[in-house]
Amino acid sequence: MAAILAVLEQRNGELKRVSHEVLGAARGLADGMGAEVHALVIGPSGVGVEGLGDHGADKVLVAADESLMLYQAHRYAYIAATAAADCSAVVLGGTAMGKDLGPRIAARMGAPYVNDVKSIDASGDITVTRPMYSGKVIATLKVPTPCVLSVPPNAFAPVEAGKAGAVEEIAVPDMGDQARATTVSIKEPEQAVLDVAEAGIVVSGGRGLKEEGDFKVVEELAAALGGAVGASRAVVDNGWRSHSEQVGQTGKTVSPNLYFAIGISGAIQHLAGMRTSKVIVAINKDPEAPIFKIADYGIVGDVLEVVPRITEEVKKLKEG
Ligand code: FAD
Repeated sequence: MAAILAVLEQRNGELKRVSHEVLGAARGLADGMGAEVHALVIGPSGVGVEGLGDHGADKVLVAADESLMLYQAHRYAYIAATAAADCSAVVLGGTAMGKDLGPRIAARMGAPYVNDVKSIDASGDITVTRPMYSGKVIATLKVPTPCVLSVPPNAFAPVEAGKAGAVEEIAVPDMGDQARATTVSIKEPEQAVLDVAEAGIVVSGGRGLKEEGDFKVVEELAAALGGAVGASRAVVDNGWRSHSEQVGQTGKTVSPNLYFAIGISGAIQHLAGMRTSKVIVAINKDPEAPIFKIADYGIVGDVLEVVPRITEEVKKLKEG
């Protein structure tokens, strides 16, 4: 039977949330094609793979070795391309790792690679949609098989599916000299922070916050909602926030369920990174600010007055 390979992602030996979304996307594709889903987990031994059948995996392939704890570009690509040899498609997350790994797998397979895939229809040929030109148009692409597709975090929902999820250890192939680079360490941020590109809720602040200290209203709302803090380039350039939080053309692309744009004008380069968010709330004192054109909800007012009141209400709702 034809198969779709879902390449899952672990960090420090634990599966990341995006892995279930990747499985959801692969399951939808497989059901349309009458295929199976094979989930591939590359990492150290002991990654919790039980229950992946409940999320749509017919089979779980585990390539386990302690030397695979950290993402190793050449070895991961080799293992995934080997596992994908007879597969019709490979699906992986559009994370920092997935964006690096996807093209490498595609090159090894001689297959096309499509990133930023927002929807997949496999009722006939494989047809996918993805934003182009900073999100101004949505392209519909017919993709031949085999192909490699990456799906951004939050674009596909995990599924409930009672599949077997039978676990099979696969041999870790020895690449010899072909593994030209080895990752020896990854520096974690000093404080554990939610990655803006993967969070389900993002609260971003811009130059409308007049000084660095005002950013605490953004941090407090993000904390109350359990979301990540994002920033416009203006505030990153001012040195108020780190570049890892920047949303936009030269920052990260996010697609959360809820996006707050606080004191952000809505320049095209900012919209490029967040316009596919499911619900957008804009707070700006200028009723003509371009951000309101794409916002689902707009509040005209001073950020320092409006945001603390929202935070207060969110806290009350959570407590009650
Ligand atoms: P501003 O444009 O200055 O907007 C501030 C907003 O706050 C205004 O709308 C104002 O009405 C409002 N405001 C002011 N005071 C208050 C108040 N008290 N209460 C409520 N509202 C208030 N930008 C990005 O964000 N991400 C990118 O990745 C990015 N990449 C770029 C790449 C290139 C090549 C270039 C040329 C530009 C890029 N930019 C990017 C910059 C972009 O063009 C804008 O300059 C930037 O997004 C503006 O940030 P801002 O909205 O915070 O600031």
